[in-house]
Amino acid sequence: MMHNGVALQGGTTHYFGDGFARVFDITFAGRDNTVRYPHQTSWGVSTRMIGAIIMTHGDDNGLILPPAIAPIQLAIIPVAQHKEGVLEKADEIKRQLAKRFRVKLDDSDQSTGWKFSQYEMKGVPVRLEIGPKDIENNSCVLVSRVTREKKFVSLDNVEAEVEAMLRQVHEELSTRVLKNLEEKTHVATNFEEFVEIAENKPGYIKAMWCGEVECEDKIKDVTGGVKSRCIPFNEEKLSDICACCGKPAKHMVIWGRQY
Ligand SMILES: [Zn+2]
Repeated sequence: MMHNGVALQGGTTHYFGDGFARVFDITFAGRDNTVRYPHQTSWGVSTRMIGAIIMTHGDDNGLILPPAIAPIQLAIIPVAQHKEGVLEKADEIKRQLAKRFRVKLDDSDQSTGWKFSQYEMKGVPVRLEIGPKDIENNSCVLVSRVTREKKFVSLDNVEAEVEAMLRQVHEELSTRVLKNLEEKTHVATNFEEFVEIAENKPGYIKAMWCGEVECEDKIKDVTGGVKSRCIPFNEEKLSDICACCGKPAKHMVIWGRQY
């Protein structure tokens, strides 16, 4: 589920059997030296998954990348970098942290405010600010991209603090999307409820289904595009009857609109 409640199919796995191999005459020699057709699978890992990350986690200020896949996990921004010793210290911290994290030190001539916005927009999970006052106090400031929380930390344990904040960002992103999924998933037990929810509440609808394609078609037509997304492994028994036709239900289905 994307942030706005619309589904995006991605990373989908298919088992093709030997169908394509037979059509395209792809063969191999088996251990017994006979000609065989390979069985094939397809794993939909494509640029669409990048789109899903942007739409799932991003906010009005731009991207938010999960620390595990962020190309830059930590952006170091020197404050008042023309002052003596600031860039040297920033570089020293960068070299120390680069052993464990993917770090970028921006020592360009852009203003500090510009740099803050730049790495916020790019979704870098954690920002480290260091200026003359911080150096005097043997400290620096860490800022979370998700909560914008500022934390003053000692340079003596900056490594552990960065690691802790990256973990915190990961957990907050995970909690936030699961909460969104939960809040935007509704239950419908009859057709009237189903249509009412489909028209007024963005997100998914959990409803029982008889197994007949006629009911899928009717739901799609009446709601203007709501389709069955999946039958989860852990089906709940919401009622005994299909939410569309009232006949005995076979499955609990998650329904929704999709991109
Ligand atoms: Zn039905």
